[in-house]
Amino acid sequence: MEHESVPLYWRNIPAYYRLVAKRCRKCGEVYYPPVVKCAKCGSAELEDYQLPHEGELVEFTVLRSVPTDFLKQKPLVIGLVKLGPVKVLGQIVDAVPEKLKPGQRMEVVFRRVVVDGKYGLVMYGYKFRPRP
Ligand code: ZN
Repeated sequence: MEHESVPLYWRNIPAYYRLVAKRCRKCGEVYYPPVVKCAKCGSAELEDYQLPHEGELVEFTVLRSVPTDFLKQKPLVIGLVKLGPVKVLGQIVDAVPEKLKPGQRMEVVFRRVVVDGKYGLVMYGYKFRPRP
């Protein structure tokens, strides 16, 4: 499903990171991460379903002891955010952990995750931040 309103830089990001889910054509169940077969009705007729880029914080956890790769971003905040019909787990950025609370509005942002120095390859992934 293509939307005219989706910016070009988002189209160039693989579907997984653009938060493109799968919706069952028969029963309407939505899956993210995408599946090839509906677990509810067994149908294999699934279509792309773009999740909204705004949602609601369900719960979160603050990791103060984190792996070396994340040292620069310490403390690491991981949250479960409800985007439309599904809940998506991801890192929360630009947030003061003490001020986060379930139910608040969140938005999806795309941030650089890994840079491969040898090939100059930059990997992006989705993250969440409190909506301003
Ligand atoms: Zn189904």
